Amino acid sequence: GEAEVRVRDLRVHYRINGTEYPAVANASLDLRRGEITGLVGESGSGKSTLALSLMNAVPEPGRIADGAIHVDGIGDVTTLSAKAMREVRGSALGYVFQASQNSMNPLKTIGKQILDLGRSHGVKDLPALLSRAKQLAERMGLDGNRVLDSYQHELSGGMRQRLGIVFALVLNAKVLILDEPTTALDVLSQSAVLKIIRQVHDENNLSTLIVTHDMGVVSELADNLAVMYGGRIVEHGPTLDLLRNPTHPYTKALIGATARIVGDPAAARALPGRPPDLTTIPRTGCVFRDRCVFKTDICAEDEPQLAEHSAGHRRACHADAAVVGPTTSKGDAS
Ligand code: ATP
Ligand code: MG
Repeated sequence: GEAEVRVRDLRVHYRINGTEYPAVANASLDLRRGEITGLVGESGSGKSTLALSLMNAVPEPGRIADGAIHVDGIGDVTTLSAKAMREVRGSALGYVFQASQNSMNPLKTIGKQILDLGRSHGVKDLPALLSRAKQLAERMGLDGNRVLDSYQHELSGGMRQRLGIVFALVLNAKVLILDEPTTALDVLSQSAVLKIIRQVHDENNLSTLIVTHDMGVVSELADNLAVMYGGRIVEHGPTLDLLRNPTHPYTKALIGATARIVGDPAAARALPGRPPDLTTIPRTGCVFRDRCVFKTDICAEDEPQLAEHSAGHRRACHADAAVVGPTTSKGDAS
């Protein structure tokens, strides 16, 4: 498909005690129509910050410091006013914030909130909107009439999380951004909800980004994977290609640590070491080098840039891709 969202050289800073720290740097990524992209990486790697940038919704003390995010039919969202952003949020860009199951309006029923959303976007046929919401809720495995008449406190975390997805879809947004959309669900509900997301995505030819720290969750669902570490996209490519032939040592280690992909929990190996936090991300060289088994002198001096390795597959690493090597059936992470 053709790119509907184009992120270019994105840089996002948070200010801590007067100093600006990059939470996202040099990030470029396309979301193509009809494709689901999974954005994966350990906690703190900058996934939510990148996702929030797509909505120009990075909260204080954060700001988009550099780069552009072009969305078809909207333009560069990094230059849009808050008012213009409110208009496209929901209608053009459907968004489920991380932990959004905790941020519904406690004073209004879900149905009322759907109506408010419709009114604020100038929807004329409100009964049709409600019936679409009900239909979506039912596809998500909920009792449509009941949940629309419910208040937040009457619903479980898992029910609210499913409703968050309904809110993101109900106005027919063409771009769908889901930040950890299934964390409040048990494993079975999780895979059911992900299947529905895939169906709705396919039916409407959406451009979808799913953010998760769990590579197993998206590996079965996403067409492409983008791997983040220390605020950088370190590898990006078609899911199967990336799982079989990871070309970045971090991707390879992440795959080896994911029991669901390795297929045998006993073969899964924890990733040694810890990811950097915002204030300890190296300012020069490769951000992953402290945990990397393939590092050489150049890795401390020169930041590797994301560059095409094979068709549609990009990597940011100084080591030869052949040295990093394919994943073995036993999930060898070394
Ligand atoms: P998780 O998997 O835990 O959701 P993430 O990959 O989504 O993590 P982000 O939430 O984007 O990561 O955070 C990236 C970095 O920015 C982290 O080091 C985080 O501590 C820092 N950060 C995030 N929000 C703020 C904020 N409001 N103020 C200061 N630092 C922040
Ligand atoms: Mg996050």
